[in-house]
Amino acid sequence: MHKISGVRIGDNLTDVKVKNRSLVLSLVKKRGLISRIELARITGLTQPTITNIVNELMASNLLQEVGTSDTKAGRKPILLAVNDRAFYTIAISFTRHGFSVALTDLGPNILYRRDSSYSVLENTEIALLELQKEFIHVLEFATSSLRLILGIGVCAPGPLDSDSCTILAHPTFLANKSLDLRPYLQEYDLPIFMMNQADAACLHEIWRGEAKEVRNLIYFMVGEEVGAGIVIDGIIYQGQDRKAGEVGHTSVNLFGPRCVCGNHGCLEMYCNTRAVLDRAREGAWLGKSAYLKDVARRRETVITFLDVIEGAKVGDQFCLGLLHQMGQYIGVGVVNLVNLYDPEQVVIGGECALAQEFLQEPVQNVVSESLLYREYIRPQISFSPWGDEVAILGAASIVLDRFIAGQLGRF
Ligand SMILES: [Zn+2]
Repeated sequence: MHKISGVRIGDNLTDVKVKNRSLVLSLVKKRGLISRIELARITGLTQPTITNIVNELMASNLLQEVGTSDTKAGRKPILLAVNDRAFYTIAISFTRHGFSVALTDLGPNILYRRDSSYSVLENTEIALLELQKEFIHVLEFATSSLRLILGIGVCAPGPLDSDSCTILAHPTFLANKSLDLRPYLQEYDLPIFMMNQADAACLHEIWRGEAKEVRNLIYFMVGEEVGAGIVIDGIIYQGQDRKAGEVGHTSVNLFGPRCVCGNHGCLEMYCNTRAVLDRAREGAWLGKSAYLKDVARRRETVITFLDVIEGAKVGDQFCLGLLHQMGQYIGVGVVNLVNLYDPEQVVIGGECALAQEFLQEPVQNVVSESLLYREYIRPQISFSPWGDEVAILGAASIVLDRFIAGQLGRF
């Protein structure tokens, strides 16, 4: 195992062991089901080596045999799968309006979840005390499996300092002052890992979603915030200070309105769900949308992104127009990202993915018309199937990723 900044750069025998176990575990996880023969073929390790590694991982309850593959002739190879219930994670995700704490298995599947509407942006002290309360609540739920919890994964929009477990203060995002989370997540001394929301969601897509085998990937997250997870040659590129991917704050209109970040006409001012909902409220108020006007009347002006989607589904022209325009701006973001990174695949995720059926066409049209090398490259563009749940699943995936890489000392 190579240490980037340490003295040692060689691999000891134990490092090689962990590395090979990590490789096997990672392949089984991504494939879902795989035989020993396939593992040997893909990794290039000998069959006896694979047999040893699999035996060790089965002895640690991490791998299990789950039936045979469907071959026509000869002995049917036994298939292996990861035992998702071997270990657990605590996942925490923050938004502007609240936070969620969940217990997940290695799937990651959410086994228990608590949502809070206390915002660290608006009610910082109360929200942090609530966080502590909900964290303990989730631990109490997991009481019989406490020793199997690998760690806490935390994701939030905006800048974070993972080393000091701190959400950094920034006027554009979540916190008016820097928030050290450690005092609130102390119980059982679990390790805490933090990652920007788009990077965490990107990790989830790599482990469980749309992009398991993709080496060069852009995860374009469009919800309340707009950001990107960038995977270059199989590794998430986070930048010098782990602040890369803020595509939402690239200007698409130098003469546009001033963004809170100081820039003018930032992409996210045109296509995040907050911008869409501002227009939706205005449309309801001015009577441009009968559907939204009725929603606003029934719910005392609270209109959600799901309402806009529902409006589009029943054919409300104003809602259809809102989503069409949102799709065009997302398309502009996709074009900019593909021109910069030339990825094999772009996954569009976050809350916007719930409106896939209305966004797909305008996104594709902008890409077909505006991409620089459209004659030569055709990156696959897909929508994440996880909707807005991807943030909490992404938080769990931060821990999962470290675990499978062999960094948590559990195998
Ligand atoms: Zn901005």
